[in-house]
Amino acid sequence: MNIAVTGAMRPNPLPRGLDDLLSEACRIRDAHWGRAVTYSRKVFVPLTNMCRDTCGYCTFVKHPSSPEARIMTPEQVLASARRGEREGCKELLFSLGEKPELRYEAARDGLARLGYARMTDYLRDMCALVLAETSLLPHVNAGTLADDEIEALRPVSASMGMMLETISRRLTRRGMAHHACPDKVPVQRLRTLERAGLRRVPFTTGLLIGIGETWEERIAALHAIEASHRRHGHIQEVIIQNFQRKPDIEMADHPEPDLEDMLRTIAAARIILSPEISLQAPPNLSSRHIAYLGAGINDWGGISPVTIDFINPQHEWPEIRALAASCKTAGFALRERLTVYPRYLLDGGDYLDPAMLSRVSAMAGAGGLARAQHHIGETP
Ligand code: SF4
Repeated sequence: MNIAVTGAMRPNPLPRGLDDLLSEACRIRDAHWGRAVTYSRKVFVPLTNMCRDTCGYCTFVKHPSSPEARIMTPEQVLASARRGEREGCKELLFSLGEKPELRYEAARDGLARLGYARMTDYLRDMCALVLAETSLLPHVNAGTLADDEIEALRPVSASMGMMLETISRRLTRRGMAHHACPDKVPVQRLRTLERAGLRRVPFTTGLLIGIGETWEERIAALHAIEASHRRHGHIQEVIIQNFQRKPDIEMADHPEPDLEDMLRTIAAARIILSPEISLQAPPNLSSRHIAYLGAGINDWGGISPVTIDFINPQHEWPEIRALAASCKTAGFALRERLTVYPRYLLDGGDYLDPAMLSRVSAMAGAGGLARAQHHIGETP
């Protein structure tokens, strides 16, 4: 069964003034999502922090020569999962560097000690372990993936994701954010979006803004995501994430996008993307994140009561009940969702394998959000 993609193909002219842009974005959000704003209560598992890429803004990646470089063992994965379970998490997000074994002998050796040749094979088995041993739903964020990798991961993950980040090939030039990053060549990421769509995977993607791209390149990236969704219906959410300066990165002196830049980009995304695509911005990367509600978001993404944001470790997650109170003041009810959005459960048909569909459905309430809403003490 196909998921309905609403609206005819349209050029989406953007209102010019900021106020008009914001009010049009909010009108679309309110009509489709109402006044509920969601989050996913999750535990983050950084399976490996080694990566064959070297993005100029990344603080997560560790060179294999670093004492901090690692691949988590199955025991460590399960220990994190169980901590998440105890705190009411429903999702386990596997995040990891891209294909370190293709570049580094140390990564190949580390995988071999665990009995594997490829990181995605190890990831697949860790997803299966989480499904067998816990109640959590794996969501996989492993970067660019080949057809066989998506097919291997699909039965053991409820959803998958990969930030498109940008469509700008300029950023792969020397001195730019994605120089010498084979997985950040835009066509490679667009291919992964397409492969996920062809294989009916509920998929999360998004933009990383402020890394050297122009406004026009941002808009082109949003149109590329929308075009992929129109072909396949698989884009469940789009994240608009703001670049963060950190002292230990190549781009330590690069300016951060300001609040107005974020608001403009969020609103443009809400107008360009089909209304059924959830729009998300992280709440821990700006002290003024509540303003994002005024630009059309309907989701805060993953928030963990147990693990830090490994990608932006200097930025703590908001306390979930405090976030609920701030949302309420702004006129929104905070609701907990699962890693898979409701429409893939309620109308999705073949988006999830039968075993995964029944597992996720058992955790969902009537509207497809999480049946247990821990932050307001609703636990069935
Ligand atoms: S941002 Fe991702 S792809 Fe880039 S270096 Fe860091 S882990 Fe690797």
